Amino acid sequence: MAVTDPERSFVARPPGRPWWPARWLLWALVWAGVVAGGLAGDQVASRSAQFSQVEATTLAQGSGVQLKSRPPLDSRGTERPSARAIAAEPVRAPLIVVRALGPVPADQLRLTCRSLEIRLPVRCEIRTAPGAAEFAEAWVASRSQYDGRVMLEKIFADRDVDAHVELLLTTRDIYEQNKAYVFGLANLRDRVAVISTARIEDGSARSRRRLVKLVHHEVGHTFGLGHHHHEDCVMRTDGTPTSLDTAPVAPCERCRSALLTRINRLAGREALVRDRARAHRERGEIALAQAWLDRL
Ligand SMILES: [Zn+2]
Ligand SMILES: [Zn+2]
Repeated sequence: MAVTDPERSFVARPPGRPWWPARWLLWALVWAGVVAGGLAGDQVASRSAQFSQVEATTLAQGSGVQLKSRPPLDSRGTERPSARAIAAEPVRAPLIVVRALGPVPADQLRLTCRSLEIRLPVRCEIRTAPGAAEFAEAWVASRSQYDGRVMLEKIFADRDVDAHVELLLTTRDIYEQNKAYVFGLANLRDRVAVISTARIEDGSARSRRRLVKLVHHEVGHTFGLGHHHHEDCVMRTDGTPTSLDTAPVAPCERCRSALLTRINRLAGREALVRDRARAHRERGEIALAQAWLDRL
């Protein structure tokens, strides 16, 4: 307060002494403040430059290289949004991005998104399919299966900047450690999931219902729901197609209530940014977490 009050500095000078040293000191301090402000601004600018670098590196390591070889458009013909476009977005429901790996029929992708948007307060978009080469490291030739966990890491690395959840559908069979196969796999922390239609697809309406159940089960996981061993809950575990046929499409009341609470907490851009930072922090990727927080 004393620094920014020139009158008080002037009056407070000892009698008989010239006023100018006090005033000179005052302006020196004010000027120093301006310089410090300028430096702080530079630090901010340099932090965001650093962030751009981090983001660019992440994209290059993740999907950047492949993205160049595929059009940066989603299935509705809109461009992938830039970080700046996201900043200008109004509060919107959480976004689930769905992609296909392999020849997943378009109607199955549309069914996936439609069933999610009908039953939950979310947005869902079908976006550019990755090439098989992008998941080559997850393919285990000796088993003719994908390693689901490796797939989840790849999906996480390639997430779009505006996605709360990424869901990959594949026609290939997948497995998880110590299991011969799985219909799907999700990571609760990372909000990514993969579903295989290899064992549920028989061309019937029944297989479409199986897919919808798997979608709601895995997406439930991506919003943080665990398993619930209750016959009237989609979060129950079903190990065979026959068992899956008896499962409900929807979660029980308890799980649905928890699901809606979690989805609503994620609505809006700030919640998205904080959630993306959280995932990196929980993975021990502190610099990436901070880079996301710097967007706020
Ligand atoms: Zn599960
Ligand atoms: Zn339940």
